[in-house]
Amino acid sequence: MKVLYACTELYPLLKTGGLGDVGGALPPALRDAGCDVRVLLPGFPAIRTGVSRSRLPHASPLALPDGEGPRLAQLGLRQPPALQPAILPGSGLAAYVLDVRTLFDRPGNPYEDAQGDNAIRFALLGWAAACLGHGLDPHWQPQVLHCHDWHTGLAPLYLRQTAMPGPPPASTVFTVHNLAYQGLFPRSSFGQLGLPDYLFGIDGVEFWGQVSFMKAGLQSADRITTVSPTYAREILGPEQGCGLDGLLRERSAIVSGILNGVDYQLWNPSHDAMLAHPYDCDSLQDKALAKAGLQRRMGLEERPQALLCGVVSRLTEQKGLHLVEALADELVGLGGQLAVLGNGDGPLEQAFLRAAARHPGRIAVEVGYDEALAHGIMGGADVIMVPSRFEPCGLTQMYGLRYGALPLVHRVGGLADTVVDATAENLRAGRATGFAFDGFDAQALRPALRRAFELHAHPDAWAAVQRTAMRQRFGWAEAAGRYMALFRSLGPQAAAA
Ligand code: ADP
Repeated sequence: MKVLYACTELYPLLKTGGLGDVGGALPPALRDAGCDVRVLLPGFPAIRTGVSRSRLPHASPLALPDGEGPRLAQLGLRQPPALQPAILPGSGLAAYVLDVRTLFDRPGNPYEDAQGDNAIRFALLGWAAACLGHGLDPHWQPQVLHCHDWHTGLAPLYLRQTAMPGPPPASTVFTVHNLAYQGLFPRSSFGQLGLPDYLFGIDGVEFWGQVSFMKAGLQSADRITTVSPTYAREILGPEQGCGLDGLLRERSAIVSGILNGVDYQLWNPSHDAMLAHPYDCDSLQDKALAKAGLQRRMGLEERPQALLCGVVSRLTEQKGLHLVEALADELVGLGGQLAVLGNGDGPLEQAFLRAAARHPGRIAVEVGYDEALAHGIMGGADVIMVPSRFEPCGLTQMYGLRYGALPLVHRVGGLADTVVDATAENLRAGRATGFAFDGFDAQALRPALRRAFELHAHPDAWAAVQRTAMRQRFGWAEAAGRYMALFRSLGPQAAAA
């Protein structure tokens, strides 16, 4: 089974969030499951410098045809856009890098749209994926084109719209990692996309007068997946459907949820190079060393008994961290500590920094992005806070489980699928792995936080829950097996249907 994995982020080359973790882990897991997988990436600086040029059988660059896709003439390019063959470091997987310097070779956040050309940039990525799906590479044509999030949303549409000579095109799977980011562009950008006029309509890419790349993917893919079973159900309703729930309900027969996995090579306290002292279920006492190390690193008082709550997150409204901020004083009043690593919304960053200033030694906040500190917080924290308003899957709570940092979560999406609340019944049954609450406000979070403090006051009971949490496994092999089953269910005829 040949699969082209088209995405924009791939750890360790480029990561802005969970999409990058998945890009780094799922393609190799698919390979290990027996799939012949290649990756398509845009040539952002971090990606171009991260890949070593290879000697693949088709080592020469592939020129993209100027056909029914984006109007290449408008790009002002001297040469046709090219796909450079490459090898991904680490996994050794073959990749195609869309190497158009004027479009992708820019510093900063890869999705920044300062030049107002994101529509054409990511349309070109979709066009590249579609051309490969049609057999652009004479040595390797995928049977399945696996696209990820709005950045690749046009790929299934271009593939469907374009007739090319040769064997039948690839079938398409579109995976939604976050429905809230939709790739919306002004109507004026539609003309650049090279799509027939009728597609700017309710059955096409039009969304409340704008162009929606997410909608394009949802409309035209043969299968839609999202990254947890609960989120797959939630997006069929108006609350989480982001205005696309009607379309998703119509296509619900082809919508499913496949839970993300954890890369336990990278996220494993027994051999985490970013922790000074490894530990595991049978050496939990050594987690105290990681905790002391974190307290020192972040300028917190070295209090072994304090319940240390950690946050590693984008600081956006989605992540619900304003609920944590609202309870910060109370958390300190209960004898706890708070360690926050994140960046995002300025006002929330400032609110956390003010809380740290009010409680030196008890609340520490680092604004920024720091992979090593993220591991340090998982290792040192007793609790990892993930109170997201919605959460397609969420990886940090799964990392927390493996590190014995019990997740405290809002019971939605992937958080509901991965954390077992420490109710009296679940504690008795030895199933509990964290704390969950319903209702999205600080009042609702408060009792869950208090339950964490209460349990922490009983070290044996706490350690028992930690061990249960640390034994949970959300391996990529299982996820890859589910994707493989989905791919196999798609014959080439599925694309033609
Ligand atoms: P999302 O993709 O919505 O941001 P996930 O929980 O799926 O959320 O994935 C977040 C990933 O990004 C995790 O690997 C987490 O450790 C990492 N991360 C988030 N914020 C930071 C940060 N400030 N520094 C380092 N890593 C971070």
